[in-house]
This record gives sequence, structure tokens and C-alpha cells, in this order.
Amino acid sequence: MLVKEYGSVVAERVMDPIDELILTILSQNTADVNTERAFRALKSAYSSWEEVLGAPEDELAPIIRSSGPFRVKAKRIKAALGEIMNRVGALQLDLLANMNPNDAMDWLVSLHGVGPKTASIVLLFCFDMPVLPVDTHVWRITKRLGLIPSNITREKAQKLLMDIIPSSCVKSMNHNLVKHGRNICKSQNPLCVSCFLRIHCIYHSAKKETQSS
Ligand code: SF4
Repeated sequence: MLVKEYGSVVAERVMDPIDELILTILSQNTADVNTERAFRALKSAYSSWEEVLGAPEDELAPIIRSSGPFRVKAKRIKAALGEIMNRVGALQLDLLANMNPNDAMDWLVSLHGVGPKTASIVLLFCFDMPVLPVDTHVWRITKRLGLIPSNITREKAQKLLMDIIPSSCVKSMNHNLVKHGRNICKSQNPLCVSCFLRIHCIYHSAKKETQSS
């Protein structure tokens, strides 16, 4: 139904994996517009990720101020780049292409400041691996629909959802759930009357029962 409503074609994001990783770290708990502003500022202040790695944290942090908790993010960016340099000997992530999705996931989440959502985004969009990023929209909607238990962690949710979503649909599923979460199934006051999923939704059924009792 999501595909029928929103389509199955997802515009390809062709980003360097390190760019995608840093962009995603900047996006943590921040609106897209602020993320993009911080990323642009970073890319125009430094000519390479090696320069970012060499920059003092105090210099880096104000440049990404628009991304919210900029001091924490500056620390995470420096730590992730430093660990990649130590392990790989260069600021690139080509080695992930030769790993299976589970090993690639473990490798990325072992970097400081990189959680499963950030790692999944890098693997899905840069390496075309079928790993579903469980962001706030995916987590909320799949719980409301009853696809996963309401008290589940994001990490466990990802494993359960990966078992029921065909690999070929992961990218469009992620894209469409994010779109649905932004437009219809909002965190506060979801627009259930306009939602094409309402007959399948346990959150909506429970709300109707409460209203009629
Ligand atoms: S019916 Fe309401 S709660 Fe359920 S998916 Fe649609 S908008 Fe979300």
C-alpha cells in the first residue's frame, strides 16, 4: 500500500561513504535544513576530511553550530574520522563493500558516535546493502501498525523488520515510511482520517474504541 501511494522509485543518493557518515552524524536529533546547513559549512571550511581530522575541536564545533548539539557532534566526527584513519590507514570505507551486511554493520557501530541508524544509512545508500535504518518515523509507524511490539528498542525493531521486509523493498520502505511520518502519521496528532493504512492500524482501532466507549 505504501508503494501504491508513494511509489517504489527512490532517487539514488550518490555520496561518498565518508560524506554520508558525517552528514548522518550531523543529522542526529536535528531537522534536515539545519543538517544541510552545517554540512555545507563544514565542506566549505575544509578542503578534505583529513583537514577536518586535523582541526582542533574548538575550531570545528562553531562551524557546525546549526546542527544542534554541535560540541558533541564535533567530538563524534573527530573520533569517527580518527578511528577510521587508525584502522584503515586512510579516510575511506571501501573495505565495507567486501563484507556481508552484518559484519559491515558491526564494523561501523564500533566507531565512537555511530549507532545502528547512522550505520544503516551508510550501508543502504552508499553500498546498496538491504539494511533498514530505523529512524523515529519508521519506529513510530511500525509500532502503531502493530508490525513490532510497542515497547521494543530500535535495535530489536530493526532485526524484526528485516525479517519481514523483502531485501528488494528496503530502500523504498524506508523512503515511504519517512514520507508518511512527515506528512500523515505525525508524532503528535496523526492524521488518521486521511490515512490509507487506517484499516490495518492497531493504534487507530484502539483510538476508535476509546472514543466510542
Ligand atoms: S491510521 Fe493513524 S496512526 Fe495508523 S498509520 Fe495511519 S496516521 Fe498513523
